[in-house]
Amino acid sequence: MDLEANLTSIRRRIAAACARVGCDPMSVTLLAVAKGHPPEAVEEAARLGLTLFGENKVQEAKTKIPLCPDRLRWHMIGHLQSNKCRDAVDLFEMIQSVDSLRLAEEIHRRAGLAAKTMPVLLEVNIVGEASKFGYPPEQLLSDLPQLKALSRIDIQGLMTVPPWTPDPEKMRPVFRRLREIKEQCAGILGTSLPQLSMGMSGDFETAVEEGATLVRIGTALFGPRQKMRTAP
Ligand SMILES: *Cc1c(COP(=O)(O)O)cnc(C)c1O
Repeated sequence: MDLEANLTSIRRRIAAACARVGCDPMSVTLLAVAKGHPPEAVEEAARLGLTLFGENKVQEAKTKIPLCPDRLRWHMIGHLQSNKCRDAVDLFEMIQSVDSLRLAEEIHRRAGLAAKTMPVLLEVNIVGEASKFGYPPEQLLSDLPQLKALSRIDIQGLMTVPPWTPDPEKMRPVFRRLREIKEQCAGILGTSLPQLSMGMSGDFETAVEEGATLVRIGTALFGPRQKMRTAP
């Protein structure tokens, strides 16, 4: 596994996707998904200039982040349970996986206790029952006024995790729909929502073509995941 070659290839592919649609490669941020990889892999990625990392489990993040270089920034990208919000507010710079008003309220409460404002993305389930987590679009639109009223969360955009398919073209309508819903939400909120987090190892070029600002890449960067040992 050659991390440097993988990174070079990913950056080149992002730039090519941007060139196809006339977007600026600087508008796309690569988030390195570190789940299933040890602190040594994170450290090597950091040496290559990566600064933004993602984890999908609070417990794994809690064990790993203290062992990684301390200048790095971390996003929570996996399903978050209410009882983990305190740790999540403490560990992460952003929570990308807010998928209910109840969860948003708990993050708001915990952020308040920590005297912080928490940047978040709202996770949308575009495809329906096939993927487990995320707001159904209708529910999201109806919850927006209440979400907006939560002063300790700062809504920066939307995120989606579609179910895996081998053909990235199949994802295009999903990514396009997320962008449309983001515009709708921005209209309702009366603010611009700068972030659109979509695209993983198998489909990030399509996501970039459809306007992604954050691509979350694990396997294409670090190779296959190992089982991480975490404290029980
Ligand atoms: C694991 C994961 C990724 C990265 O997946 P790869 O296919 O390994 O790039 C991206 N987003 C989320 C939410 C994940 O859980």
